[in-house]
Amino acid sequence: METHLPFFEHPLGKTFHHSGTFHGHWHEEGAERIRDESPVDGAALGHVSVTTENDYEETIQKAQEAFLVWRSIPAPKRGEIVRQMGLRFRKYKASLGRLITLEMGKILPEGEGEVQELIDIADFAVGLSRQLYGMTTQSERPSHRLYEQWHPLGPVGIITAFNFPVAVFGWNAMIALVCGDTLIWKPSSKTPLSAIAVIRIMDEVLKENDLPEGIVNLVTGPGAATGEALAGDKRIPLISATGSVRMGKHVARVVAGRLGRSILELGGNNGVILMEDANLELALQAVLFGAVGTAGQRCTTIRRLMIHEGILDQFSERLTGAYRAIQVGNPLEPRTLMGPLIDGEAVAQFETAVETIVKEGGKILSGGRVLKEGSYAEGFYVEPTLVLAHPEMSMLQKETFAPILYLLPFKTREEAISLHNAVSQGLSSAMFTQNLRHAETFLGPAGSDCGIANINIGTSGAEIGGAFGGEKETGGGREAGSDAWKAYMRRQTCTLNWGEDMPLAQGIRFGSGCTT
Ligand code: NAD
Repeated sequence: METHLPFFEHPLGKTFHHSGTFHGHWHEEGAERIRDESPVDGAALGHVSVTTENDYEETIQKAQEAFLVWRSIPAPKRGEIVRQMGLRFRKYKASLGRLITLEMGKILPEGEGEVQELIDIADFAVGLSRQLYGMTTQSERPSHRLYEQWHPLGPVGIITAFNFPVAVFGWNAMIALVCGDTLIWKPSSKTPLSAIAVIRIMDEVLKENDLPEGIVNLVTGPGAATGEALAGDKRIPLISATGSVRMGKHVARVVAGRLGRSILELGGNNGVILMEDANLELALQAVLFGAVGTAGQRCTTIRRLMIHEGILDQFSERLTGAYRAIQVGNPLEPRTLMGPLIDGEAVAQFETAVETIVKEGGKILSGGRVLKEGSYAEGFYVEPTLVLAHPEMSMLQKETFAPILYLLPFKTREEAISLHNAVSQGLSSAMFTQNLRHAETFLGPAGSDCGIANINIGTSGAEIGGAFGGEKETGGGREAGSDAWKAYMRRQTCTLNWGEDMPLAQGIRFGSGCTT
């Protein structure tokens, strides 16, 4: 049964006003508001107040004070709080998924899938709370113990993009919480309501457990003001920033300027290689989901498809047929496979991209138009677009955040890998083949240069168990599973002398009191 989100008095979709600042309680001072529009039909979903300078200050102070308490609670007990949060996310899965769909425009199964990611990472973090292992090693000195341990780091700033309004926060937040950090979340100004909903759900659990204010916090506002304040704030040892390469380059400089740490999760320009022996049935399904899913607005969206020339005609014909059959429309409708783009600016970027593609000699095989008629009139809909491209096109270098897929023929495996790696981003990649040598070459040191490399599955839809992130201009950060937790903690190397002598390392003798 669907449990409605507590702050919507009515099933989702009713326009209302909400504060954008939370530090244990909702607070608002200023008059500036964000009008949150649904890309589905352009209607206002709500108005959210922007965090003022005073509110920002209070939030950071609360996060610092709460850190002093939270860091001393044993990690498995922090895990217990995250476990309860995971249960609470399950309760609101349907409503929260629907809100994500209304606010961001992804289809309902993807909206709910995003909440499932939040649930999965909460479960992962609960187990992790008993596995924040440090290693012990052998000391070269007698009666000495040498080991490493991990301590909570401090308040963590989490800056997120519009396209995963909930999951990306979850990857950071659930892990950072069990690591003993407090959180300050700055969501995209395009999706503040999903953030408010998540904070409210987490706060239910914090309040039920009588925990102090300030463990989980929210600030809202433009990147250039609120985001910039977080990036430059010395009191925040770690900034995890997800978004465009342009934003990441700037945030990296600001955080490095104060010698803070950053985790950068930036743009992708993901490629798939179809070898001549590929299982085309599998490839077709993977390419459709990877290129058209979320209307091409995933960081892991397939943007470039390198196809062996021997199967180019056959595969592009099937793909073109499948593209023409894609139902574009209201993402709440069960038949819809592709919803709208996020806003008018994204549609304008799509239009400019299509114009440039044609100018550069790309051939549009399917799509290419903005949809404006009838039920499309109020929202931001475009056609999923297939382009027969050539390697000299400048557009191949660009992450146009829209459903545009470039097909690039190749003759040899080496040519395909070289085409694949010839972009400045390095997030996700895949090869379709039945040949072990092709697969291992792609996964080997001279193969894909991305943070994620797959065989016979697409580039998107990663599981939370592995570390997620990319190389080159994607920023080098890693989030979610595996040992990504280490970035959210302070590493300490400890040497303990339980003997009665004071031997120095490297056998150094220093004065009469020291022996080896
Ligand atoms: P964006 O860069 O416009 O904004 C992302 C966030 O950064 C927003 O919260 C924004 O307010 C903030 N921001 C902007 N300027 C800032 C500044 N000067 N200082 C601090 N914060 C600032 O990105 P977007 O359009 O919301 O999202 C799409 C982009 O995000 C795409 O490039 C996509 O590939 C990328 N993305 C990457 C990943 C990943 O894990 N690699 C995941 C999701 C999205």
